[in-house]
Amino acid sequence: MTVSIALFTQDLRLHDNPVLHAARTTADQVVPLFVFDPAVGAAGFAAPNRLAFLADCLSDLDASLRRIGSRLTVRRGEPAEQTARVAAETGASAVHVAAGVTAFADRREQRLRAVFGERLHVHDASLTVVPPGRITPAGRDHYAVFTPYHRAWQQAPRRSVLPAPRALDTPAGVGSDSLVIEAAGGSLSPALPPGGETAARARWRRWDVDACTEVHDDLAADGTSRLSPYLHFGCLSPTELTAHAQRHEGAGAQDFVRQLAWRDFHHQVLAARPAAAHRDYRPRNDRWHEDDKEAEAWRRGRTGYPIIDAGMRQLAHEGWMHNRARLLTASFLAKSLHLDWRIGAAHFLALLVDGDVANNQLNWQWVAGTGTDTRPNRVLNPLRQADRFDPTGAYVRRWVPELAHLPGPSVHRPWLLDGDYPPPILPPEELTTRFRDGRP
Ligand SMILES: Cc1cc2nc3c(=O)[nH]c(=O)nc-3n(C[C@H](O)[C@H](O)[C@H](O)COP(=O)(O)OP(=O)(O)OC[C@H]3O[C@@H](n4cnc5c(N)ncnc54)[C@H](O)[C@@H]3O)c2cc1C
Repeated sequence: MTVSIALFTQDLRLHDNPVLHAARTTADQVVPLFVFDPAVGAAGFAAPNRLAFLADCLSDLDASLRRIGSRLTVRRGEPAEQTARVAAETGASAVHVAAGVTAFADRREQRLRAVFGERLHVHDASLTVVPPGRITPAGRDHYAVFTPYHRAWQQAPRRSVLPAPRALDTPAGVGSDSLVIEAAGGSLSPALPPGGETAARARWRRWDVDACTEVHDDLAADGTSRLSPYLHFGCLSPTELTAHAQRHEGAGAQDFVRQLAWRDFHHQVLAARPAAAHRDYRPRNDRWHEDDKEAEAWRRGRTGYPIIDAGMRQLAHEGWMHNRARLLTASFLAKSLHLDWRIGAAHFLALLVDGDVANNQLNWQWVAGTGTDTRPNRVLNPLRQADRFDPTGAYVRRWVPELAHLPGPSVHRPWLLDGDYPPPILPPEELTTRFRDGRP
């Protein structure tokens, strides 16, 4: 009887899972294992919203595995050490794991390699559609500009979509720690989505991809897929989503696939430049403005600009924010207030249920003009953006109840009306000046 370990990381699903597929097609029995690594918390990455979502993901995965005759083993501790223990207990001769893109995932893989050597099998098309490094421009190890990347990405070969197993034989008597994840302190957003593959597939089935293009940037329509948390934890496979959307003819499906290409793009940048998680990808020697009160007003959704405040309050309430609102709130912090983008990125990571090192840090840098944006000096004007992407003011009225009585687009400029909404922390005529003065 041969035994292999499928070590789950950010691929918490049965459908289209290369790690699980390889583990079960190369051995008689499989131990599905998840190791809860305390170092994630120590690094400040275990935000309460994501831990709650992860707890859902693990119990859903366990329930799905039980339906096919298996179960999830959970252990707590250093992943290589814990995996070695499980291997010793079960006589497992191989370990399968998905390749990650962060420095953290890289260290985990190195430790696993030190323990298991050739018995470790790393699967690189699990977290992304096209593995980082698979397509590169001549003479470089990654693409720094999206458009040529996207062109090459569309032509790149894809692996086929793998079926979910119908049965899985697992050795008896493997002990598991509890699936329950202790609260890390800090409060949860009250309207978090449910985690797990079952919820993910239900959401995916309900969402209308054809409507995506018309309403993608319309803040009040809320027409994007909201699949990002499920993609972050791997409850859905981007390969399966892409293959499915590409069978669809419409512009909505193409638009959706393009968003998934953005995700791959940021992953390949981070895989090649792990330090970009914290350091400027393209240093511009910004002299950042420092003002704790302004940063706090931004975090609390009290900047006096209702469109910014609406986005920040959506984030606090749902642990999620519409993409257009992310662009506006990030630009307001990093360009208009000209505060260091890391302040904003840290706040997003503390709350976002889809909070992801590659997507968050690199999108922040894109907005701040220190990343891969080909127009690094652009500053988004929140008032013009509000008029364009929330023309009726409905998004603001949804998230800023103090202003719910104001009709139409007048809600975007409450300082022109009577009322006690806080005045703008930065006058409208100064929305671009700090950035221009602070960048040499
Ligand atoms: C400042 C800032 C921070 C961000 N932080 C994160 C983050 O931590 N995690 C995260 O997943 N996304 C992040 N994004 C990207 C984007 O805003 C979200 O992925 C998107 O809003 C999620 O909503 P959706 O699933 O409805 O997206 P859809 O429009 O339905 O797109 C489908 C999927 O494509 C991917 N995607 C879409 N846009 C982007 C993008 N610009 N970059 C990378 N992937 C993308 C996501 O996985 C998304 O679920 C950030 C964007 C900005 C501007």
